[in-house]
Parts: sequence; structure tokens; C-alpha cells
Amino acid sequence: MYKVNKSDEEWRQQLTAEQYYVTRRKGTERPFTGKYYRHKQKGKYLCVCCGAELFSSETKYDSGCGWPSFWSPISKDSIEEEMDYSFGMIRVEVKCSNCGAHLGHVFDDGPEPTYLRYCINSAALDFKDE
Ligand code: FE
Repeated sequence: MYKVNKSDEEWRQQLTAEQYYVTRRKGTERPFTGKYYRHKQKGKYLCVCCGAELFSSETKYDSGCGWPSFWSPISKDSIEEEMDYSFGMIRVEVKCSNCGAHLGHVFDDGPEPTYLRYCINSAALDFKDE
């Protein structure tokens, strides 16, 4: 059980169609189209569903992959990782630990110091200026 628990109908009403598809149906936005891909302002990236602080501009970097990329979450506790065997691939899914929103995946081809790449959909995020 998550701290924030809403029915499918409530999520549908709260979110745009794309936000709903990505966060509640494990969807993926098309690469290079998301509003935070080239976003370089200083601040925090929040879960679009529940407002939890997930990532900081301090760990955002340009991976060239087409989605906002971070080498670390703000806190390990703010996210959950789960194995994902869909589409014939073995990936690690990243979710919001406060509401269960699907955010994206984490790969081990990131930069120093963690060598991780949290590949996150813009549609799963909100931004709060510093
Ligand atoms: Fe959330």
C-alpha cells in the first residue's frame, strides 16, 4: 500500500491523458518530445501524481537518450525499483515510493559518481523552481 492511494478513476480525472498513460499504465513518451528533456533550470523535479520530490537539477545530465536523465534520485527512499521483463527486455523499473507512479527505468551506463542513468519520462514529472 502506498501513502497516496487513489482509484483509477481519480487518477484519470487528475492527470492528462499522457500523464495517466505513462504513470498509471507504465507507458513511455516518445523520445526527444518531453518538456523536461532539454530543461536546464535549477530546482526540483516532483512526482506529477503526488508531488513527492524525486530528482534535483543537480544530478540531471545530458545523456543524449531522448528522456530526462539523472545520475541519482534525491533520496533512495523516494523511489522504488522493480524488475521489468516486458517487451522482451530485462530492465529495472523506477517508481514513486509515495504513490506507485511509473517514472521510467534505471540503467547502469550513467556518469560518475554512481554510473547510473535514471531515464525518466517528462510526463511523470512536475518542476519546482529553486
Ligand atoms: Fe508519486
